[in-house]
Amino acid sequence: MTELLEIENLSVRFPVRKKGAGWGGKTYLTAVDSVNFTVRKGETLAIVGESGSGKTTAALAIARLVTGETTGQVRLEGKDILPLQQEQLKAMRRKVQVIFQDPYSSLNPRQRAEDIVREPLDSLTGKSASEKAAIVDELFAAVGLRPEQKRLFPHQFSGGQRQRIGIARALSTRPEVIICDEPVSALDVAVQAQILNLLRRLQADFGLTYLFISHDLGVVQHMCDSVAVMYMGKIVEHADRIALFSNPQHPYTEALLSAVPSVDAKRREETRRILIPGDPPDPLNLPKGCRFASRCPIAEPRCSESEPPLKQAGNGGMVACHLREAG
Ligand code: SF4
Repeated sequence: MTELLEIENLSVRFPVRKKGAGWGGKTYLTAVDSVNFTVRKGETLAIVGESGSGKTTAALAIARLVTGETTGQVRLEGKDILPLQQEQLKAMRRKVQVIFQDPYSSLNPRQRAEDIVREPLDSLTGKSASEKAAIVDELFAAVGLRPEQKRLFPHQFSGGQRQRIGIARALSTRPEVIICDEPVSALDVAVQAQILNLLRRLQADFGLTYLFISHDLGVVQHMCDSVAVMYMGKIVEHADRIALFSNPQHPYTEALLSAVPSVDAKRREETRRILIPGDPPDPLNLPKGCRFASRCPIAEPRCSESEPPLKQAGNGGMVACHLREAG
């Protein structure tokens, strides 16, 4: 498999008003800080972390959908897509599509289902009306919706069916990469499994590459080939799925994994729930050392002195922790 997506030093920052500096004074909140990773064609990389970790901002920056100041490189098939404008940007948007988190708010309530699915074809391609109609028919079948449902409005569908419409819309331009932004977190557990199975089948049928954003490691475990864990805008651990779930290296990953319920009674007994005390640091006033130090159960004095870089870990992946580097 070849590298389809290469992310190098990706940072995103947003201007915010400086406290006590009046309307003119501003500072920047760095939501994503020098993130690096690659994804091979046909693979699924999960980006996980708590709310505010920067995972969604990083993914949407890759789709050129954030308003913040974005720097670094996002190479799709070897070409940096961050500087693209107009027609080139349109071509890129055909290749990178998004499935949004909330199937209730992400669909226009005044559009019929067939118009929603056809919309990217209207705005991004020059296909004829008959070609577009044929694609919409094919996609309704591919996501498990019936032909007679094409004329219905979003409120006439269940939550799971609405997400199927969102998936069909994302597939309409035959993208290479789909960013799945918490695609099942707004759905009932029983429906979640159906949508996850659908996403896996479509990945095989259409040769898709997924960036799968989630805070739920239970879901991630069934979907991904590799996992990047983010905390306060940084990747703190990145490893293949089996290594990360069987031998997590970063204390934050360990705590997240300890909260995943297991159906295995023995594993349930063996796994002690690790609670993460305290709050994350102020993103406008980050510490000079490890950003996890104030909450880390194994922190040492040196952790507050210098920021740990991402280095080779004992499980074959990468970890940003002074105490967990390989060797
Ligand atoms: Fe904890 Fe120190 Fe590792 Fe940070 S560098 S995760 S504070 S042990």
